[in-house]
Formats: sequence, structure tokens, C-alpha cells
Amino acid sequence: MLSGWRDVTARQPWRISAKLLIISSVVTVIGFSAICANVMLDMRRGEEALAHQTLENLATTIESDISRNIEIYDLSLKAVAANMLLPELATVSKPIRQLILFDHAATARHFGAIQVFDAEGRLTIDASTLDPLPDNRSEEDYFRVHRDNSELGLFISRPMLFRGAYSIVLSRRISDGDGGFMGVVAGSIRFSYFHELFERLNLDPDDTITVLKRDRTIMMRRPFDLDIIGTNLNDRQNWKADNLPAGASYSGQGPVDATLRLYVRSSNGGPLFVVAGKPLAAVFALWEKEALRIGVVVLALALFVLGSTLVLAREIGRRADAERKLEEMATTDALTGLKNRRKFDSVIDAEWRRAMRQKAPIALLMIDADHFKAYNDTFGHQAGDQVLVGIAICISDSVSRAGDCAARYGGEEFAVLLPNTSAADAFKVAETIRLKVQGWSDDQASTTVSCGIAGLVPAAGMDWSVLVAAADKALYAAKAGGRNQSVVASLPKLSLVA
Ligand code: GH3
Ligand code: MG
Ligand code: MG
Repeated sequence: MLSGWRDVTARQPWRISAKLLIISSVVTVIGFSAICANVMLDMRRGEEALAHQTLENLATTIESDISRNIEIYDLSLKAVAANMLLPELATVSKPIRQLILFDHAATARHFGAIQVFDAEGRLTIDASTLDPLPDNRSEEDYFRVHRDNSELGLFISRPMLFRGAYSIVLSRRISDGDGGFMGVVAGSIRFSYFHELFERLNLDPDDTITVLKRDRTIMMRRPFDLDIIGTNLNDRQNWKADNLPAGASYSGQGPVDATLRLYVRSSNGGPLFVVAGKPLAAVFALWEKEALRIGVVVLALALFVLGSTLVLAREIGRRADAERKLEEMATTDALTGLKNRRKFDSVIDAEWRRAMRQKAPIALLMIDADHFKAYNDTFGHQAGDQVLVGIAICISDSVSRAGDCAARYGGEEFAVLLPNTSAADAFKVAETIRLKVQGWSDDQASTTVSCGIAGLVPAAGMDWSVLVAAADKALYAAKAGGRNQSVVASLPKLSLVA
């Protein structure tokens, strides 16, 4: 008795399905790509932070240089404004007066000569000459602001032509002891100072340095463009990075040209401030190269992994198909297409245990072709095979419930297992089969089948061979009773199902 066969579908070993493989590969590729993208973005932020720091240092250094020079020059202006009040000044000769008023600091390169104007704006004293030509500057900004305001301190003018050179004019008010307006002392720092300062720095052609006054007037810019010098950023509606705070940065289009840059403002607090800009293309040039290189490698890897996965998945699919087919072949009878004996044994084993657990009825039909030897002898073995196929069709047409199992049990013998079915219902199924065979074979040389039926509710400790033996016995009874009939087995009362 082959009761040891297991139902192959009941317990399957863990397997990698093609779908699982594809899903895990895709998840891996997405996860890996996300990590790479994150690292790349971190690197980009790092590049930006580095550029920010470099630009801030540059802007702050330039601002410090400018502030220091303005401070030095302002000290001279302050000294002149103070010394102009000395009563002795009127009594000394012009050369001595020049010596008293002007120190040598104000004669440094790029600094224009200091001039003193009286309360009407007339040029009275000039550091560069003892006898200045008559001149009146009462209409100039740097004069009027001091005349109208006594508390201004140092005034830095808009960039202008001053004594034949583009300069910014620095001026201070000369007030008498009571704060009365006595005139203005003015000097200039030429653009050549800025040009030289910027030339000393190692800058790319597209890098910008903008020197601004606190009211956001552009005092100087590199690259130099006279049309921009003197304009005020407050008038530039399209520039959104308004009021860039000290040390802060702005990334995008600047107020002057369309190039996208990273702009950083100096972090000092001098009278002028500096904004240094570097094109974003230059800031991220190295990063872009690196990102492209890593991106291409990651893409190639991802494509390789996905490609290999598809190949593997196809192979797994093919194998699964082959296994399915093999399993089908291993469990199917080649001639009739019904389950084979091996499969039947494993099914009856599983269903018997289930019926025992659930205390449910289970029935078995044993069906045997009548006088089949004679049929074979008369019509030949091949014709006999066709009849066996016909009988199998009649059986499978009559057995339709999901758990039912119709199998070829031996040469011309069939078995039908009917779980959850009483012997009485199984008898009906047997009769349906028998009549179907009879009806079908009427057209040919008449073939009939005899059926033995057994049905019971398995009791604990009972083996399914009891059921098979009972159905077999009933089949012999049907044969003995004249064939072409169905006989229900008589079983001990306890296990019989009405
Ligand atoms: P009974 O009514 O008592 O069953 O008579 P029988 O001739 O059918 O019984 P027996 O067991 O004497 O003969 C069975 C015959 O079935 C023997 C064999 O020629 C035939 N047979 C068994 N397997 C096949 C098969 O696969 N194909 C064909 N054509 N015949 C088969
Ligand atoms: Mg027979
Ligand atoms: Mg037989």
C-alpha cells in the first residue's frame, strides 16, 4: 500500500519567484540610486558652502582694504577741518599753512589732492598748489549736503569725474565753535585704486566684485562698466535679492547681467560694502563633472542589475514552467488525461486524513470495463485504448466538484474519490457514469462498466485501504451480479454513511 505519498501541492519548499526577484532588484536599484543621489546632493551643498566661504573671505578682505584707506584719508580730512579753525592760520605764509593742514598720508597714490571750499563753495586752499585757480563747487552734492546738515560727518559721494579722473569724493564739514558752516574739505579716491586692488586678486573673467554704498549705489564694479557705476540697486525692480544682509548669499541672476551667479556680501560694517559673485557654472563645474561620472557608472550598474534580473527572471519562469509540466506529467495518465495511480494515492491519503479530522464522509468509486479482454481481442488493442479514453471522458464529465479526484487505477480500471460525499450520493454519481458509458458506447460495439461504491466517515486509527478494499469488494459483487451495474459496499454499521 502506497500510503506514504505526500500531496506535492500541500507543502512547497521556499522558492524565489521571478516576480520576487524583479521586485527585490528594482527596490535595490531604487534604494542604491537614492543613496547615490543623496551623496551627490551633499557634495553639491559642500561645493556651494566652500564657494560661499571663499567669496565671503574675498568680499570681506576687499572691504577691509577699502575701509582702511577711507579711514586713513578721512583722518587727513578731519585734521584739515579741525586745523582750519586755528586763528594762526591766517597769519602764516601759504607754504607754512600747507604744512600745517596737509600731512603726507593724503598724497598717497590714488588719493586726489585735498581741497578746502569756503561757505560759498569757493575753492580757497588746494593741497596740490599754493595758488589754486578760482573754482566754485557750491552746486556739488558733497558741498550741499554739509551746508544743509551739520551732523553728517564723512560724506562719500556718488562716483564722478573729479579733477579729470573718475573718483569717489570724500568730504567733511568745517564748522566753527558754535557749529556754524564755514565750508567743506573734500578729497577723492580715484578708480585706479579699485582697478589696482582688483588686479591684484586672482579672479576669473566672469567673477564679479561690486562695491556699494550703504544706500546701495554701485560705486565700483568688476568687470568695469561705466554705465553701471553710480546706479542705485533700489531702482532695479527686477533684482529680487533686496537688502542682502552682511555675510549672506544669493544665488541667481544678478542686477547687471543675465549670468547666474552665487553672490556673497562682505560681513564687515564699513561705509562701503562689497558683494563678490562667481558664476554658478564655475562653482559647480567640478561637481558636475563628478556627478556625471558617478551618474553614468550608477546608471550602467543599475542597467546591468536590471538586465541580469530580467534574464534570471526569464530563466526562473522557464524552469517553473518546466517543473509544472513535469509535475503534470508525473501525476497524469498519458492515455486518458485523468490523474494517475501515484497521484490518486497521494490524494486519497490527504483527503482521508482531512475527512478523519473533520469527521466528514468520504466515498470511493471503483469502475471496471466489462469484458474488456474480449473487446481487445475482437477490435484490437488500439480500439480498446479509444474506449478507455471514452470511459475517462464519461467519468470526468460526471465528476465536477473541486475536491473530487478521478484517476486511472489500473489497466481498464478507474477510481473516483469523492470527499464530503455519502455512499448514497456516490451511488448516484456511479450510475451517471455507468449510463453515460452505456449511452456513448451504444453507437460503437457496446461497452459497459461495473461500479463498486464505498462510503464512510473514517474513524480514528482507520486506514484508507479499508475504503479501497470495500469498493473493490463491491465491484466484484457488481461483476458477479451480471456486470453493467453499480453496487454499494456493505460496511460495519458504525462507519456507514446513510
Ligand atoms: P471483466 O468484465 O471481468 O472485468 O472482464 P475483463 O476482460 O475486462 O477482465 P480481465 O481482467 O480478464 O481483462 C482485462 C483486460 O483489459 C486485459 C487487457 O487486455 C485489457 N487491458 C488492460 N489495460 C489495457 C489498456 O491499456 N489498453 C487496452 N486496449 N486494453 C487493456
Ligand atoms: Mg474488466
Ligand atoms: Mg479489470
